[in-house]
Amino acid sequence: MKRVSILGATGSIGQNTIDLIRRDKSNFDVVALTGGCNVALLAKSAIELGANHAAIADDRLYNDLKDALSGSGIGVSAGRQAIAQAAAMPADWVMSSIVGAAGLEPGLIAMSNGADLALANKESMVAAGGLMKATAAENNVLILPTDSEHSAIFQALMGQSRSAVERVIITASGGPFKDWSNAELATVTPDQAMVHPNWSMGTRITIDSASMFNKGLEVIETKEFFEIEDSQIEVVIHPQSIIHALVGFHDGNLLAHVGPPDMRHAIGFALYYPDRKPLPLNRLELTKIGRLDFSEPDYNRFPALKLAYDVLELGGVAGAVYNAAKEVALDAFIARQIGFLDMAEAVDRTLHRLFAGACELNKDQNLDNILHADNMGRKIGREEIQALSA
Ligand code: NAD
Ligand code: MG
Repeated sequence: MKRVSILGATGSIGQNTIDLIRRDKSNFDVVALTGGCNVALLAKSAIELGANHAAIADDRLYNDLKDALSGSGIGVSAGRQAIAQAAAMPADWVMSSIVGAAGLEPGLIAMSNGADLALANKESMVAAGGLMKATAAENNVLILPTDSEHSAIFQALMGQSRSAVERVIITASGGPFKDWSNAELATVTPDQAMVHPNWSMGTRITIDSASMFNKGLEVIETKEFFEIEDSQIEVVIHPQSIIHALVGFHDGNLLAHVGPPDMRHAIGFALYYPDRKPLPLNRLELTKIGRLDFSEPDYNRFPALKLAYDVLELGGVAGAVYNAAKEVALDAFIARQIGFLDMAEAVDRTLHRLFAGACELNKDQNLDNILHADNMGRKIGREEIQALSA
């Protein structure tokens, strides 16, 4: 029996993970499930999977969760500390699927307590890749990439020599505004940005996909996971989202990972790694797809992607600043305080203010420095948002 926990169990990745576990219940012992504020779904999932413990991040919801689970024998806790404690409960495998930088510390705690970490929470790798990898190495555990592109690269690299890699290409659908002009992009509303052409995901990552911040985060995530040069990472627009990533080798051969846009393929691969188990998911039918298209990304219309390459060059804690400023800019866009294009502008200005002159941020990736950089990214980001919305 594999002991598993899911951090962010009520979200899109969390529920997809639960869908796979429910089909194979006898092989899993579910230790802890955590959620942000959806008590009903957390309780339902905990009962269905027979979890030992359920923790909700919003401490005002303790009594609601307790009531929902009364008589079930499932342990209940609430608050930020409760999420950390749930992450620390002994497990073999933990899904890190909280959204945002809030997922960083629980993931570190899970690894420190001996669990392999399936990493959907890309923000951890962007903000703290060095610390994440050091923590995994110290505790002799794995970080299993569970973003579709990174699972794809990981799979294409299996059995290959890392030193033979020439380039890695990650694909992007281009989102709903792929062909929009700058003038049109300036008018995009949150409702328009919340619809993805191919993937069904949480609201925040869906908007990040539309702005290409998601691909920017993934470029940084690629560098952290696979430790290649900035110039070896390419992004290609591929509207069908069928090829998730390709790895090119020194001899010119390219290996592509191909599959339907369903996160359960990447989650299932991480769940059973290093085995491959039969998964009852839809199979790709190439003749129904018919054609695959590719084009270059436009850094002018989607500056969030260009900024990610600046972050790679800056290194150190720049990823933590990029992500934090993006998170507050996304909040401001959702609240209709700033426009769609202002998100990248706010992040650009924040990076500029913090890194253009003599940088006062300590570049060493320890948790204090990363949390400080995250705080500064939010603080300066909010100032720039204020200026843009004035
Ligand atoms: P989601 O918004 O659907 O779910 C997020 C989960 O985190 C929920 O359980 C929510 O309650 C919880 N949460 C939110 N804030 C929290 C906090 N402060 N403390 C504790 N819990 C909190 O998001 P999602 O789409 O499932 O994405 C989860 C992560 O996986 C993100 O990092 C995202 O970038 C990544 N990811 C998602 C997809 C996808 O298809 N959805 C694909 C690749 C990567
Ligand atoms: Mg992805």
